[in-house]
Amino acid sequence: MTMRVDVVTIFPELFELPLRTSIIGRAAEQALVSFGVHDLREHGIGRHRSVDDYPYGGGAGMVMRPEPLFAAIEPLRAQGAEVILMDPAGERLTDALARQLARAPHLALVCGRYEGIDERVRHLVDREVSIGDYVLTGGELPALVLIDAVVRLLPGAILEASHEGDSFATGLLEYPQYTRPESFRGMDVPPVLLSGNHGEVDRWRRRQALRRTADRRPDLLESAPLTDADRTILGEFSDDAGSS
Ligand code: SAM
Repeated sequence: MTMRVDVVTIFPELFELPLRTSIIGRAAEQALVSFGVHDLREHGIGRHRSVDDYPYGGGAGMVMRPEPLFAAIEPLRAQGAEVILMDPAGERLTDALARQLARAPHLALVCGRYEGIDERVRHLVDREVSIGDYVLTGGELPALVLIDAVVRLLPGAILEASHEGDSFATGLLEYPQYTRPESFRGMDVPPVLLSGNHGEVDRWRRRQALRRTADRRPDLLESAPLTDADRTILGEFSDDAGSS
């Protein structure tokens, strides 16, 4: 089944290249996904196709008016789209959320600009998503981040095995990866990876993933599915730290 992703924006040109390039472009060619990018200005008001106005109550910047957004979003809702507003106040985009969204048949992503949207537009959206605790100039890059995170998970977009082991998918950060050459500027590939012993390679990778997660993102260990063997390994790391 082809997933449908619509985007509402005042800068449709920002989507042209990213949606045609690399894995996302290939997924569209293979009909795993189809995109519709809608210029909000087509619903703009007056001769200048205005989509923004001054905020009631005063203050800096402009706010996106509700009428053009309603006019753009309502037909997408009528088609059954799950409407997502890109917003710094939304729920954080995570691997788990990307996997949930990858199962949706139809998403409509709404990109804010200026100081954001008139509050009443929130009545029309099913969820709000933030890509992190910082503020960008518009929702276009966040929408592209969401599209990239979701489309690569669609069955057939990339080898399933390549995202199964990715950081976060396993609940841990990914283990270190190496390719040729075996030795580079005095830095050697760990011998176990050259051993051809798949069991040893798997154990080494699991240990490295645990080590990296414990060092960089210990918070992930609280919810990661860990085996008794994993807990023993993590115990060894804390013993090492204690004795050094
Ligand atoms: N005044 C708003 C606030 O403080 O929350 C920020 C508005 S921002 C300059 C303009 C638009 O960029 C937002 O409406 C939203 O669509 C998008 N945006 C900015 N940062 C974002 C983020 N971290 N995640 C998702 N969307 C973001």
